[in-house]
Amino acid sequence: MSIKINSFGGVGVWLLRKKASNMTSKLALEITNKQYAKKVQKYVKDFNEGEEIPVFKMVNIETVNRCNGKCAFCPANIYEEKRELKMMPEELFQKIILELKSLQWQGQIFLNVNNEPLIDKNISERAAFVKKQLGDNVIVSMFTNGSLLTIERLASLVGGR
Ligand code: SF4
Repeated sequence: MSIKINSFGGVGVWLLRKKASNMTSKLALEITNKQYAKKVQKYVKDFNEGEEIPVFKMVNIETVNRCNGKCAFCPANIYEEKRELKMMPEELFQKIILELKSLQWQGQIFLNVNNEPLIDKNISERAAFVKKQLGDNVIVSMFTNGSLLTIERLASLVGGR
């Protein structure tokens, strides 16, 4: 059986990472830091010198602190989960959305953070509420592992648009 090597930098980078993982990790960190340092400096400069205070473009709301996944690398997997199960109260959810509306906010709202959003049985209604209140000013999105996704649920989610 042949083995295919996948790496963002191709086979050469994969081999380099294998043979000199400490060196390449350090290098990758330095490059990433440099890239982000420039962005952060620009953001701080714009924030301090711009006429308008820049407003965030993305909002993530986790309405339930659970996932049904088993991904070993993730602290939310079913084997590692230690938190008490909590659902975001509807009043709090609506308060957040109405505050965004009062700001005339435009952007993208994700109805998940590090969880499985479809565990929330009301997620379609919540998505519909966001669309009703914020309309075309927002894109409503979510990442799901798909395990609870059915045609009916998909239809009800898309119905909220
Ligand atoms: S939140 Fe995502 S990465 Fe984490 S266990 Fe669930 S599906 Fe896996």
